[in-house]
Amino acid sequence: RRWSPKTFTFTTTRPPGFAFQNGQFVTLGLRRDGKLVPRAYSIVSDPREPDLEFLSIHVPDGELTSQLAEADIGDSVWINNKVTGSLTVDHVLPGRNLYLLATGTGIAPFISLIRGAKVFERFERVILVHSVRTAPELSYREEIENRVGPQLRYVPTVTREPHSNNQRGADLFRSGELFRMLGLPAADPEHDRVMLCGNPEMNRDMVTFLKEHGWTMTNYKGVGNFTVEQAFVGARSCE
Ligand code: NAP
Repeated sequence: RRWSPKTFTFTTTRPPGFAFQNGQFVTLGLRRDGKLVPRAYSIVSDPREPDLEFLSIHVPDGELTSQLAEADIGDSVWINNKVTGSLTVDHVLPGRNLYLLATGTGIAPFISLIRGAKVFERFERVILVHSVRTAPELSYREEIENRVGPQLRYVPTVTREPHSNNQRGADLFRSGELFRMLGLPAADPEHDRVMLCGNPEMNRDMVTFLKEHGWTMTNYKGVGNFTVEQAFVGARSCE
């Protein structure tokens, strides 16, 4: 499914025994002329679904995505059998409000989270903030809107064309405008939790901001009150 000239979703069959948790990612790729071109992709699906769904950017001269965008039904995609990632519900302490801040295709792991049940058992409320350049890049918008309810709030923002909300989600969070808009108490590290996924600079800036404001990032030393997907930061990521 094409969302915009820049983004598309594709679905693969699920290898037998392939287990994962909501929010994790896997490496996948295509073999071309005997050479494998692998990239990390978050799994959009909920583990209860029979297939695996992924959201990809389309880089016209990108080594993998240009080929993936052309793939036909029945073509083979190589999928690693190791899944990992730091955006599962276990990567933050339980709490009151969980803020999911995504830019672009960084929304992929968060769709998986909200398709699952656990996130709504661990947190009173989930607030999904998605910033994109143009409205068609608000992938999964209809699905998210259909899921909105007492436990799920959705804040889409579009930064490079006219839209009712033109601000970057991270700016809304830092200025406090997000909480005013939603009628919620300002996020605080004692009660609330944050997950970050998307533009590497957004991730970096938010990590710095949160640390400066008393938040503790989840790492090998322990589970904190915010987490970020490190795998995509400056890595050969999902193009
Ligand atoms: P983008 O199209 O460049 O930007 C999307 C939005 O991010 C725009 O609204 C943009 O605002 C905003 N933005 C840019 N820099 C920012 C900053 N420093 N702070 C706050 N907001 C900022 O797309 P992208 O978000 O960079 O690309 C998506 C990222 O998600 C990639 O890095 C990719 O690796 C990652 N990712 C993808 C997957 C997947 O499964 N496909 C999974 C995890 C992560 P302006 O218009 O104002 O610049």
